[in-house]
Amino acid sequence: MRKLVFSEALLPDGWQRNVCVEIDVEGRIATVTPDAEPGHLIAVPGLPNLHSHAFQRGMAGLTEHAGDSEDSFWTWRALMYRFLAHLTPDDVEAIATLAYAEMLEAGFTRVGEFHYLHHDPDGAPYADRAEMAARIAAAAQATGINLTLLPCFYAHGEIGGAPPVAGQRRFLNDLDGYAALVEGSRRAIARLPGASLGLAPHSLRAATIEEIRAVTGMAQPDEPLHIHAAEQVKEVEAALRILGLPPIAALLDAGLIDARWCLIHATHGTEAELGRVATAGAVVGVCPITESNLGDGIFPAIAYRAAGGRFGIGTDSNVLISAPAELRTLEYSQRLALRTRNALAPRGGSTGRSLWQSAVDGGAQALAAGPAGIVPGAFADLVLLDPDHPAFAARSGDRHLDSLIFAARAGAIHDVWVRGARVVEAGIHPAREAAERRVAATLARILGA
Ligand SMILES: [Zn+2]
Repeated sequence: MRKLVFSEALLPDGWQRNVCVEIDVEGRIATVTPDAEPGHLIAVPGLPNLHSHAFQRGMAGLTEHAGDSEDSFWTWRALMYRFLAHLTPDDVEAIATLAYAEMLEAGFTRVGEFHYLHHDPDGAPYADRAEMAARIAAAAQATGINLTLLPCFYAHGEIGGAPPVAGQRRFLNDLDGYAALVEGSRRAIARLPGASLGLAPHSLRAATIEEIRAVTGMAQPDEPLHIHAAEQVKEVEAALRILGLPPIAALLDAGLIDARWCLIHATHGTEAELGRVATAGAVVGVCPITESNLGDGIFPAIAYRAAGGRFGIGTDSNVLISAPAELRTLEYSQRLALRTRNALAPRGGSTGRSLWQSAVDGGAQALAAGPAGIVPGAFADLVLLDPDHPAFAARSGDRHLDSLIFAARAGAIHDVWVRGARVVEAGIHPAREAAERRVAATLARILGA
């Protein structure tokens, strides 16, 4: 049994001092004892990152140059398809390893990898249909991050079952092919500590309601279900035109949405739709930095929370990987849209703590990660802050999270532990340097091509 002690720790019922945490051989928390003995560092629960496309980290910063026509999500998507056409399994493993090392350094201790890059550049399955899934698992193994692998079902190019375009051929499966992919994905994570599986019909653009129902039927009862929904106005308009309903209402009316579901984005969900999502107990996966970068729009988080809605956060395109920055961007989007402050805090409460706690709870639910937070039975997934860092001078309790999210510069996250083992020390993940070299070589090959 390993024992850690902290000067302060954020437990489910609030901050406690001189907290002792005992950890069993599987990396789960066995006991949590406040007022035990003095420690130095400050502990908060590691944050789940409920939505990532790891390979997109490789194109970060390469799409910020205006095209000849007006740029949008759709012109970005065309560039993304061109980038991924070059990626080999080795490339994907290298980029994912770097992305996951960065996630750990940035305060994320579990990643939900919404994985849709399955086949070779011609669209033919690899000899092992789950080759790419195995590479994602290898990246998780190399970095130590907890993985919830979300193999994605993708069959069509537009709502209503329209044919896919050439740029989508690496994603495509029929339901039989997808069932084989799911089994291969289960094998790929079978011996990976801390790993779990969920299923992910990509969106109503890529899967019909009937196919989504069939995918749901392939999931084990404890496996979560993820789908992109209502990210773009054009997508909502297409759903209205073709299905007669906006995307989230179409999913709700089909009887699909319950507490196992995570709706990614839901940016353009109506108040009525989001009220029904909240009532169903599902989670909305907000990806604030990517949604800002792609010009998606602003998720109506205040109204959704007022309706009792649960949310977590995801890094999605991984254009910039940072747990504090995702939460800050979410809060600032609400402040800008509604000209208010402390938009997502309870009356009289800390915005930082409210954001962090919501994302811990919502993320754990969406990734079926078991108990959330620093509690017995949960994995010992911890983000440790150094009280000697200037960002935390004379702070205590909630002020730590307020300062980390809104005011701290680099280096404020000191150590990160996953399953009771330290994976980031003094801000650095040991796999970072080698992964950076591999990714640099990959990009030199692709961009020179
Ligand atoms: Zn996404």
